[in-house]
This record gives sequence, C-alpha cells and structure tokens, in this order.
Amino acid sequence: MNKSFFLATSIVLALWLLVAGLDPAHAQRPLPPNEPARGLIYDGLEVAIDGNCRGGFKIKLPNGREQCTHGPDPAPAHTNVAQSVPPLRSMSPSSTAVLCDGDGVSGNRVQVIYAHAADVTSRYATYLASFQQWATDADAEFHNSALQTGGDRRVRFVTDANCQPVVLEVQLSATGDDTFSNTLNELWNKGFNRTDRKYMVFVDARRYCGIGTIEYDDSPGASNRNNTGPHYGRIDAGCWSGVIAAHELMHNLGGVQMSAPHSDGSWHCTDSYDNMCDHSGRQIQIVCPDPSGDSLFDCNHDDYFHTNPPDGSYLATHWNTANNQFLFEPKTARVDSFLTGKLIGSAFTPTSTFRQGETVVLRINLVDQNDAPVSGAMVNYTVNQPGGAVQCALSSTTDASGIAQGTCALPMDAPTGTWHALIGTVTRSPYAANDTQSMTQLDFTVQNRAPTAVRLSSFTARASGVPLPMGGLPGLAMAGALGWLALAIITKLKSRESQPSRLLSATDSLFRWS
Ligand SMILES: [Zn+2]
Repeated sequence: MNKSFFLATSIVLALWLLVAGLDPAHAQRPLPPNEPARGLIYDGLEVAIDGNCRGGFKIKLPNGREQCTHGPDPAPAHTNVAQSVPPLRSMSPSSTAVLCDGDGVSGNRVQVIYAHAADVTSRYATYLASFQQWATDADAEFHNSALQTGGDRRVRFVTDANCQPVVLEVQLSATGDDTFSNTLNELWNKGFNRTDRKYMVFVDARRYCGIGTIEYDDSPGASNRNNTGPHYGRIDAGCWSGVIAAHELMHNLGGVQMSAPHSDGSWHCTDSYDNMCDHSGRQIQIVCPDPSGDSLFDCNHDDYFHTNPPDGSYLATHWNTANNQFLFEPKTARVDSFLTGKLIGSAFTPTSTFRQGETVVLRINLVDQNDAPVSGAMVNYTVNQPGGAVQCALSSTTDASGIAQGTCALPMDAPTGTWHALIGTVTRSPYAANDTQSMTQLDFTVQNRAPTAVRLSSFTARASGVPLPMGGLPGLAMAGALGWLALAIITKLKSRESQPSRLLSATDSLFRWS
C-alpha cells in the first residue's frame, strides 16, 4: 500500500465518520457480502434507505439519475453461474411464437440485447437463435399466466419483418460486465436509455444469475413509474433461459411490490410455486402445489398479475403488472381467406366450379390483428343451395396454422347455379371475430355432371316424348318399363277388337327407335 493511497483512504474514512456522526439517517448502510457461487454480487450498488428506491438498492446513472434494483437474484438450485448454458440445439416447436404488434418498433417495447465485454469474444451468431427462443419462452410465460385469469397478455418486443424479436449486439468496455452498475452506465451512454424501452440484456459473463431494476410504486394508475422506461434486466450466461429472462422482465414491469399480500419484503413473494417466489432465500409456503408454477406468474393471481382482478381486491386497487403498457392483449381474430376447392391427392386445389355429385372442400384461414395464425378457434359455417336451403351445416376447429377445413358432398341431383358458403360464428375466448374486416361469404357454381350423363338424359327424354324427372340410366330404365307397360295395356285393349293389323301398326310406331 503506498502512502498516497493510505492518505486518501484515511480522508474518505474521516469524512464518512463526520457525515455519519452529524446525520445518521444519511449514513450508508453496508452492503451484504458477495456470494459469487450464487451469483450474488453487490458491488456497485448502494443501499437505499429512503426515496424512490427504499427497501432496495440504488444505481447511479449519468446526470444524477438513478435506477432502483431489488439486488441480485440468487441462482436457482442446480444452476451453476460459473458455467455458460449451451446454445439450444433445437427450438421448441410447441411454444407460442412471439406476436408482432404494429410496425415492430414504435411505442413501448422490450428490446433484447446481447452484450459482451471488449475482452470477451462475441458469441452472437452462436446464440442468436437461442436468445430469440428464450425471449419467446418468456413471452409464453406471460401468455400462459394470463390464460389462467381468462385473458391474454403478450410481451411487445421490438420485432423484425418475420415477427422475431430483434437481438442487438452491444460491445461493452473490458469492465462493462463487471457490475450491474457498469453495464447500465455503459448501455445508457450508448443511447439505450429510452423511456419507451425495457431492456432484456443477455450478458456474456458469469458473475450474476439475474438482476433487474424496479420502481417502488404500487399506485394503480397508468402513471405508475413502472409503466415507463428505461428499465434493465441482466441475465448472465450461467442462467440464460426463458424463466430467468421472464423473472427479470417482471421486475422491470413492477412486480412484486412490497405492499402485496404475499410480499417477502424484498420484491418477491412467499406463496410458491411461482416464478417470482423462489429467489429470496426466505420462508416459502407451497400454496400452489404444481411445480410448473415456477414458470408462471402469480400463484392465485392475488399479488402482482391478474388480467381481470375482482373489484376491491388488492390488484384492483394497487399496481397490477397485467396493466403494464409494455404488454399487450391480442383481441381479434378475422377470416383472412375463405376458399372452396377440391382435394387432389391430399393437396387442396382452389376452384369455384363444381359438378353435381362432387365434394366441395371449404378452407378458412383465421388470423389475429397481427396476421399471426389463430389456432383452436371454432368456426361454424354453412353451404347453401341457390334457393337458400342449407345443404351442409359444418363446424371445424382451426389448426396450428389457423386453418379450419370441412367438406360438403353435392348430391347427384344438386340444383345447378350459384351456391353460397357462409361463415356464421368464430369463437375462441378471448378472441372476438372482427366482422368488419372478415370475409364471411363465398359464392361458387354447380354445373350439370359429366357430359356423358347429360347426353343419355336428353336422349331418354326425347325418346319418351316427355321430360323425365330422373336423368341417366335410371331414367332410361324407367322409360323402357313405362313403354312395356303401355304395350301391355294396348295389347290387352286391342285383343278385344277385331283389327290385329292396327295393333301391329301401333306397336311398330312405339318401338321403331329401338
Ligand atoms: Zn428477482
């Protein structure tokens, strides 16, 4: 230790003692000790005794600004913060894709970032698809949690033209990954400080598990400070996952406030299983016994997330993160296309012209207002004859591609002319069909059947001299039977007369064509 350092340290210590002695309320409380094995790094934080960050920690930002944080989240069991999670080998096909809302850029959005220090080789290309999948998994957590209360919420990400979350690559200084404070200050100085952004930052370091910023504000209105940006969630490489990303984002959205019924007193909850409850290291009660609740928000939906809280309940009268404007509710489903066609092999081939006796295949494609497929929707529709009579009443459910398909067999004697296919109702809670944008009626033509059958039918009618109600071979058979019946009657009548020559003449005229 050199003399100047010792001198400086002594002066700082003396000043600290002076300030603390004069005004104990403003004395800095000591930070908890670091526990690197659990990802608990407190360097760069300041204990907040009062003000906006009371109950947590402060991080000083440029121009006197500050952000509040609950502090580092301890790594879950079986997680090694010192070892990077490998890139995902395959993407989860079952998870619901991110929805792109609007132009993908404007308004309140969550921006995904991959950040690495200058002395860490970029692994952006290796992990890009994984980052997108983890962001998608985090989104699915909001979606699935909202479904539990009869609603829907999705994360409004910054998305590209393919509705994938945009992942920006940011290089920090060599020390930019050392502390959460360093990371925030460098991101801020690079312009990642927008009030309409929350930043989901996957940092290529193995210091933390996860840590995020949050506002001490449980007021219920839209002016709640958690309803704006910027806020930051940092997830380090040992904890890269959808669950931790969702956890930090939930902090950024304002969960869990200290006044919540099951608050643990440090921005988390005590009623497990719940994504926000297992990280405090304090007393936990198993209130929701299904362990899958660890990847869902708000056991019993009474502390921080409910899409439709009961009147007078805590979430109806305090901050409810389901109201955060960085989330959105997909509401409408519309018929994007409505086609008639035929199956050639298993391939659907659109056509609007059919013949009697053929099968009409009806195909309806349902999308939401972001043009994403709406699966699991029940579509009721009818196929109506030219006169209005219902030929087929159908009900089909849309598949993963948003397609509902049904068939209607036309009878051999189907009326020819213009038929109508009509969509009646489209139901899927909480989606509502948007009739003004939907295509709900479709016309198609039914013609007489194959040319061979038409020739036989007209031949029969001409031969018998009267139009017959039935066409084709059955008609021909009936004409023959009628002819023989007539012959038998005439023979019977004529046998009573004495003019056999006229009978022969009559018989000759009846059957000359045969
Ligand atoms: Zn936490």
